[in-house]
Amino acid sequence: MLGSTQSSNKLSKLVLQPTPFCNLDCSYCYLPDRQIKASMSLEVVDSISKSLLANDAFLNNKIEVLWHGGEPLSLPPAWYKEATKLLSKRTKSQIRHIFQTNATLITQDWCNHLKNTKSMIGVSIDGPRALNDKYRVKRNGKSSFDASLSGIELLRENDIEFCVLCVVTSDSIDSIEETFNFFEGMGAKTLRFLPEDIVGNNVSSSLATSEGRRKMRGFYERYGRMILNSASEQCLPDFEIVLRRILNPSQIQALQETALVGRLLNVDYEGNIFGFSPEFSSASISDKKRFQIGSTLTNTLENILESEKYLSIAREIEDGVRKCKETCQYFDFCGGGDPAPKFFEHRRLDATETLACEMRLKAMVDGVLDIISMRE
Ligand code: SF4
Repeated sequence: MLGSTQSSNKLSKLVLQPTPFCNLDCSYCYLPDRQIKASMSLEVVDSISKSLLANDAFLNNKIEVLWHGGEPLSLPPAWYKEATKLLSKRTKSQIRHIFQTNATLITQDWCNHLKNTKSMIGVSIDGPRALNDKYRVKRNGKSSFDASLSGIELLRENDIEFCVLCVVTSDSIDSIEETFNFFEGMGAKTLRFLPEDIVGNNVSSSLATSEGRRKMRGFYERYGRMILNSASEQCLPDFEIVLRRILNPSQIQALQETALVGRLLNVDYEGNIFGFSPEFSSASISDKKRFQIGSTLTNTLENILESEKYLSIAREIEDGVRKCKETCQYFDFCGGGDPAPKFFEHRRLDATETLACEMRLKAMVDGVLDIISMRE
């Protein structure tokens, strides 16, 4: 039995890894197999439709399919055209496709596909050339910057909305003005900062120092002030959530979607199914075994969600959320955190505080509070 903090949810997000391969070799990447050139077959896509998308009673009427990597654009638009048809074959739910990409492989064909399928796109780029290329390089060690920027330019020419994800490291944390100027006028719909995490293959973070913690708070505070003072159109949704919660304390932050039972599943290129945080599907072989809850070739959504393995992982996550609620004064902003950093930092899911808490959540809340107190 699950307790009160976890309620049953219908499946509303599928994170699919069509290939472990990535054409870049970012030094902070958490994926151990990103050099392996394997890809999901259309038979596996059909098995996803059969096993996970055939019983509408378990499905939200709107489902997001997030194509994640490796680099998902390593497979051609023609493959996705078939995959998209197969995924919709057995469900009445409306499926929205989202691609998280380094943007280096975007072509006009890709833009046509994105437009035709009304797909959304998230682009990973870490700011100006010198900051981006410190970590985000091609497999030959050369710069990825121009290729990513060309991809973004094509999206703009085709009026395709895109969001940006920017990893913050010890090399970029002091370059607030350069980062702000770089993203100003780029036209991204939203911008999210992701402080370098300890997760999967990335077993340390350049920010895991007391100075890193202090600077991250200053980063959020100064970046937020630059947006406010310049009437910038840059939109930081995480900032807005925190601000809304400060202005309206009765508004409790919902639990992280990666901690909710039945809400999100991950499938790797071979059809192996994992629950909760997407990082569990890209872990080392032994960690993958701990989190694999089935296969699209042999299981159904019903028997996966009812399996003792899935439920015992859910109970452990719930214990962590309960401890967070009892001990953390940021709980109302956070909801108990993402299970992946808890596992990769503490090797257990019923843990509480992580580097990700401090960098992603606490530093942001404190930075927003600093802005408010300066304006009063
Ligand atoms: S900030 Fe960390 S410790 Fe606090 S509630 Fe969130 S996950 Fe738990």
